Amino acid sequence: MKPETLAVHAGYHARVAGDPIMPPVVLSSTFLKPDPEGAGAHSYSRISNPNRDALEQAVAALEGARHGLAFASGVAACTAVLQTLRPGDHVVAAHDLYGGTQRLLTGYVDRHGATVSFVDLHEPVALDAALRDQTRLVWVETPSNPMLHVVALEPIARLARSRGARLVVDNTFMTPLFMRPLALGADVVVHSTTKYLNGHSDVVGGLVLCDDDALAADLRFIQGACGAVPSPFDCFLVQRGLKTLAVRMRAHERGCLAIADALTGHPRVRTVRYPGHPSHPQHAAHVAQADGGGGVVTIGIDGGTDEVRRLMGALQLFTPAESLGGVESLIGHPATSSHRGVPPAQRAAMGITDGVVRLSVGIEHPDDLVADLLAALDGL
Ligand code: PLP
Repeated sequence: MKPETLAVHAGYHARVAGDPIMPPVVLSSTFLKPDPEGAGAHSYSRISNPNRDALEQAVAALEGARHGLAFASGVAACTAVLQTLRPGDHVVAAHDLYGGTQRLLTGYVDRHGATVSFVDLHEPVALDAALRDQTRLVWVETPSNPMLHVVALEPIARLARSRGARLVVDNTFMTPLFMRPLALGADVVVHSTTKYLNGHSDVVGGLVLCDDDALAADLRFIQGACGAVPSPFDCFLVQRGLKTLAVRMRAHERGCLAIADALTGHPRVRTVRYPGHPSHPQHAAHVAQADGGGGVVTIGIDGGTDEVRRLMGALQLFTPAESLGGVESLIGHPATSSHRGVPPAQRAAMGITDGVVRLSVGIEHPDDLVADLLAALDGL
């Protein structure tokens, strides 16, 4: 089935007369166990829960994965993957990952005896040079957050596999509607469901997807043993959000394309980046592996933090706030928010100057979004 259909139906089905059409929310923390030796479908909600099962199955179906595991946040999902490492293991990570993932890789992984190299992965030759005998994971986001650099996944996946490392792709920005990394050779997909999968800015959650049974068993152990699990109600909300994922992603994309068209060449705008727009330097690489451009446009305005502050103050429809992926448009300033913790030199190398703003384009009418941006920019 196509992703649009799976998004509506995967994970739960009413079967017999009178079954609820939507999965009931099962808040119970514990389940009947009449036989001390016997095991029912569920015993205790840290270990498993009907709503978590349904969500895990739905997103696994969308990503074309054998296994899905839900966590309490996107960062908890990333942490679970990193907890599969052993002392002495090595990770190659893209140099421009989301700030929170970088924080995890720099401030947490070393406590467990593993090491990390940050590398610009846009050329597979850089990965070749960075791989070591001890490399277990290669970690990539494409398009990256917030500069929307594109990494071609197939060559990276081939290389990582040939050297015994697993490729992990954070697919939060694309969602399985627009890209399915496992089909491109990745071994693991991670998501912050906080963003598009839920889509309504009212849940924090995460997911890990993979095909490998042994890895899935290890992750399942970590999920239950460490306990960073989402609540049944949050799982229900994400699954409800999933049902409209296809229409939302196309609406986000329409808005982004209209904004990229309208702002390109604007006298107060230095750069416009949107991977779905032909002006993006890696547009061809992006469309070769993805079915859509996503919901984020990153622009560099003519000015620094003061001008960004004025722009944010003048906008009516773009609310200044962290995060992305909701139905409402948001504007963020990476230099003072998501990438505040990244050392300024590294930030500059990533292209995150003080004039860079990230637009999380909602599903409002594109004409209204463009008019709002033009009015605010004209007034700068
Ligand atoms: N991955 C990406 C690409 C993100 O943008 C984020 C959050 O912004 C995360 C992971 C972390 O997710 P969460 O905030 O749900 O922990």
